[in-house]
Amino acid sequence: MSPEDFYGIGAELTEEDRLVQSTVARFVDERAAPLLPRAFEEGDFPVTLIPEIGALGILGSSIHGYGCPGLGALAYGVICEELERGDSGLRSFVSVQSSLVMYPIATYGSEAQKAHWLPKLARAEAIGCFGLTEAQGGSDPAALETRARLDGGNWILTGSKMWITNGTLADLAVVWAQTDQGIRGFLVEKDMPGFRAQAIHHKLSLRASDTAALFFDRVSVPEHNRLPGAQGLKAPLSCLTQARYGIAWGALGAARSCLATVLDYTRTRELFGRPLAATQTVQRRIAEMVRALTLARLLAFRLGQLKDQGKLDPGQVSLAKWNNVRMALEIAREARDLLGGAGITTEFPPLRHALNLESVVTYEGTETIHELVVGKAVTGFDAF
Ligand SMILES: Cc1cc2nc3c(=O)[nH]c(=O)nc-3n(C[C@H](O)[C@H](O)[C@H](O)COP(=O)(O)OP(=O)(O)OC[C@H]3O[C@@H](n4cnc5c(N)ncnc54)[C@H](O)[C@@H]3O)c2cc1C
Repeated sequence: MSPEDFYGIGAELTEEDRLVQSTVARFVDERAAPLLPRAFEEGDFPVTLIPEIGALGILGSSIHGYGCPGLGALAYGVICEELERGDSGLRSFVSVQSSLVMYPIATYGSEAQKAHWLPKLARAEAIGCFGLTEAQGGSDPAALETRARLDGGNWILTGSKMWITNGTLADLAVVWAQTDQGIRGFLVEKDMPGFRAQAIHHKLSLRASDTAALFFDRVSVPEHNRLPGAQGLKAPLSCLTQARYGIAWGALGAARSCLATVLDYTRTRELFGRPLAATQTVQRRIAEMVRALTLARLLAFRLGQLKDQGKLDPGQVSLAKWNNVRMALEIAREARDLLGGAGITTEFPPLRHALNLESVVTYEGTETIHELVVGKAVTGFDAF
């Protein structure tokens, strides 16, 4: 029995999904892992990995056509899991590109937008970001203040966005703005005059990820850069459902990395004349990690089945995102403690994961927001 997959869920995956998983796992172990601790310390996304991520053929994994692989939900899940085993920043890069940029183009875009952008985004020859959150409150996106006003054939975009992953790396920003007809989505290109991305520094979390503020000073966006199928807030929320699904899986990866580190460390570290792993209290703490990880994996797996069957409810995604990120955060903190002083440097990953997960627990809907989504689903009352 594998401690990281105690109930053997991996055996339920198709051969194709397992091949995807092992390919991404190899990339993470051989190419990404050697760079990630340094990237975290330096506060930079490891951009040299971008062409390699493109070559893996995993971007826009669920999209059919346009150079995308058209894989199922479980394949997207294991991609996120393996990437986040490396670092939440690495998984965030792929989540944003796949779920928050390629998904809205594939779902709400015109044929011309799909044909132009999706193949480039799939190969990572173009990078995208997703601008929904604004400084005045990410939990209440309906209150967004960025405005787009139609002037002749162009939209004039004014406002700003905050906490945008891949913001300074992006060639393309999917930006959500208020119009006279309600919220609409726009494809804002890097070189459009009046558009500026500014890196956010001094982060203590998700350091190996590019996080930026975006500014729009009367940016003129042609009508053909508006996503024609996106009407109202439900469009960006549908993108978030995709990304949250991936996060529910990604959290398993961070937890696995911490559990593997702790098992390795406590088996060989001797105190009071025996390995730490041979003491009852340490075993209980490790067993608790295995219990929490196993339950979270069952949730993620069932969520994947529901997604493939087209039966996924956003409330189910909320419950899994909330549960699984909380699970990973608690395992990462426990793992850090079990490493003692050794746990505070970048030599071991648990503290890096724990710090990253402080962002993951907040972005894509805080725990409170997901609790309220589940509360509404089961009581019928909207308490937002
Ligand atoms: C590293 C990072 C990357 C990000 N990447 C992106 C991105 O790529 N694109 C994007 O658009 N956004 C992104 N975000 C933004 C993220 O989604 C928001 O930070 C998140 O939605 C929370 O919004 P906020 O930070 O404004 O907090 P707030 O909304 O101000 O919330 C503050 C606190 O109030 C609580 N709260 C809110 N409403 C209620 C309520 N009704 N009842 C009780 N408590 C409540 C919250 O749970 C939270 O604890 C990112 C954030 C981070 C940190």
